[in-house]
Amino acid sequence: MNDYYATLGIERNASETEIKKAYRKLARELHPDVAGPAGEERFKEVAAAYEVLGNSEKRSQYDRGVDPRAHSGGQGGAQGFGFEDIFEQFFGGGGGGSPFGGGQQRGPASRTQRGGDTLVQASISLKEAVFGVERQVQVDLADVCSTCSGSCCAPGTSPQQCSQCNGQGVVQRMARSLLGNVMTTSPCPACGGYGTTIPSPCGDCSGQGRTHTRHTVKVDIPAGVETGTRIRLAGRGDAGVAGGPKGDLYVEIREKGDEVFERRGDDLHCTLEVPMTAAALGAQMAVDTFDGEQHVDIRQGTHAGTSVKLKGLGVGKLQRAGRGDLYVHLDVHTPTDLTDEQAELMRQLATLRGEELPEANLAPIGGGVFSRLRGAFKTR
Ligand SMILES: [Zn+2]
Ligand SMILES: [Zn+2]
Repeated sequence: MNDYYATLGIERNASETEIKKAYRKLARELHPDVAGPAGEERFKEVAAAYEVLGNSEKRSQYDRGVDPRAHSGGQGGAQGFGFEDIFEQFFGGGGGGSPFGGGQQRGPASRTQRGGDTLVQASISLKEAVFGVERQVQVDLADVCSTCSGSCCAPGTSPQQCSQCNGQGVVQRMARSLLGNVMTTSPCPACGGYGTTIPSPCGDCSGQGRTHTRHTVKVDIPAGVETGTRIRLAGRGDAGVAGGPKGDLYVEIREKGDEVFERRGDDLHCTLEVPMTAAALGAQMAVDTFDGEQHVDIRQGTHAGTSVKLKGLGVGKLQRAGRGDLYVHLDVHTPTDLTDEQAELMRQLATLRGEELPEANLAPIGGGVFSRLRGAFKTR
């Protein structure tokens, strides 16, 4: 004969409460979500043990040395009743006959629901990302129906108690299981679990309690946002159902590229073309930035590839103080359009610097000449 007490891990003189407690603990540990399929066989033993010991009549029979399950056909109670069904009753249903019942007795469901969240996109320029911007976005949102004020009922009517469940929202039925008869509870099919029905739905919202309209919403887009940033406007989304709270509105940023400036994080980068003479002699050059005209100091003897940092002229930092920097990359421009007079001066300069070159190399044409020039300088 099976030792049901050992199966539940309890003493032979255990109280009803102790038996129930031991069974609940094991059932939770062996739940498929916890133990996986491996727990199934063990649970069947535990369930069988509880079927006997959880029933005072069967328990006393068992204590007298007779296994009541053996006489009632053993697994009889389980036939046509799967493992999952049992768990559904215990863990999902919270029905009356379950040892887990009582904790979550179901009543009619509330029609009240929070409104949905809505996502809308906003396109901004790089300059707007640098400083932040106020933007109006167009978005379709659900509003409380003005005709029925969200009640879903045609004017002059009201919800009626469901006759099928008497307003309980649930229907119960008896089912057999390993543990004997158990009461299962499910939402009332007639009223969808609400306990009430709406005999005359509002015509303006088709009984939904909400209508959709186009809204213009003002959004403060802070500095430092970038493509993919979502700004949450709490409580600005769809109206709730039946008086429920509003959902949230999310504004997702799309940042457009810029022809002059490139963004890398909080910093901006641009390229400034510097005449060869300015690079050699030193100069101050003006650049148009998002903060207006700024002056860049070109130091005497500047090489191509040098960059100048303009501190604090980058992108505003998102939710932090300060701004990134602006890096001006200097591109020293070698002239390709020298006049005869300019070429002569260059030649004189070359002579002064001891950098005379073969006549052919001074022809004012493209890259081939340039590379030969560079070669000449190297062998100087
Ligand atoms: Zn309505
Ligand atoms: Zn009902």
